[in-house]
Amino acid sequence: MIVIGDYHMHTKLSGDSKNELEAIVKKAIEIGLTEIAITDHGPAHNGYGIKKEQYPVLRAEIDRLNEKYPQINILLGLEANLLGTDGEIDIDENMWKIIDWVNAGYHFGSNLRKDYKLHLYNALSKVSKRYHEKVKKLNTISMVNALRKNKINMLTHPGAKGPIDIDQVAKAAAESGTVLEINNSHGHLTVEEIKIAMKYPVKFAVCSDAHEIENIGNVSNAIDRAFIAGLAPDRIINVRA
Ligand SMILES: [Zn+2]
Ligand SMILES: [Zn+2]
Repeated sequence: MIVIGDYHMHTKLSGDSKNELEAIVKKAIEIGLTEIAITDHGPAHNGYGIKKEQYPVLRAEIDRLNEKYPQINILLGLEANLLGTDGEIDIDENMWKIIDWVNAGYHFGSNLRKDYKLHLYNALSKVSKRYHEKVKKLNTISMVNALRKNKINMLTHPGAKGPIDIDQVAKAAAESGTVLEINNSHGHLTVEEIKIAMKYPVKFAVCSDAHEIENIGNVSNAIDRAFIAGLAPDRIINVRA
């Protein structure tokens, strides 16, 4: 199986990585990728969110690199944060105008404007069964509503930061045409989650979530899980059999 793209990686712009943009592009070309999405954390991430004013600068830099390296297609992306059960995510009007690829995921570091209890409940769910069930419903509602409300290309590491009902999330992703990520670093989707999700006509992507240059395009763990789950390669958008 050949990996041809990677739609989840971070740069030094959001402080969550030391990677320079051009070094990422060179590495991606070196390992044979033909498309990548640059997906730093959305602005509502407290520690590592990209600043809104940096976004047009990043757009210009990506445009420049696309001209310089015609052998690869570089997409301006974002790993937006799920902000609550209403399905809101942290992409404003100006960002929507220039973005090419939208990832969305739930992160503990996000500034939840309304449903701030989500973080607390997700933390408590690790020690209490009662909170586990309660927060599973809330996490699922926020993902499903985000899928219905926004044009999201890929849901990142579903289930990694808090419990979800993968059946409902996969159904909603199939309806919205959103890809489910099999994240190489976080262990989700798990084999069991892939098996449940693949009952629905949803597509998948194996992505690195690279924070280091050497991990760009490194999706071997993710491919292993897809293989064990029995997922057909033609359902994974960024590999060729
Ligand atoms: Zn993430
Ligand atoms: Zn990430």
